[in-house]
Amino acid sequence: MPGANHLFFHWESLGDLEIGRPNLGMMAPVLVYRLMLYTMRTVLTARFGLAETKRIFVAAGRLAGEEFCRHLLNTQLEFDKFLTELQEKLVEHKIGILRVEELDIDTWDMTLTVAEDLDCSGLPVTNETVCDYDEGFLGGILKAYTGNDFRVEEIDCWAKGDRVCRFKVNLIQAN
Ligand SMILES: [Zn+2]
Repeated sequence: MPGANHLFFHWESLGDLEIGRPNLGMMAPVLVYRLMLYTMRTVLTARFGLAETKRIFVAAGRLAGEEFCRHLLNTQLEFDKFLTELQEKLVEHKIGILRVEELDIDTWDMTLTVAEDLDCSGLPVTNETVCDYDEGFLGGILKAYTGNDFRVEEIDCWAKGDRVCRFKVNLIQAN
């Protein structure tokens, strides 16, 4: 059915990179990724305003996080081992260096930091947090692992003048 695919994301839509890019391979410069990200952000903000654009990036990040977890992480692991695997995968995919700063396993309250973040590390300081996609991404990963909904809020960001991104994570609904 033409077009029907666009309503649903499928991991397979990312394609077979070994067949598709035999010479250029899996990697692309961060500059190219950010060029797409920040031009997309500019166009969406012009059309829909900043608040709605942030919501769009959070929603896309959440979908990406859920799919990333389902396809690349082992959700059967105990939480500490799951976090270790997540840290390794985020480095392997050059997304960032994740650290768990605080964790209350009873309430699922957490503070996470991401250093050398793919989206923001090195950006000019504009006194705002820009990692809306990461907020959704981390929430989506935790949703896929626990089945629960989380609120993830970035409180520190390179674009705000900080050296790492810092995310406050709270459980909003236990399903
Ligand atoms: Zn950030």
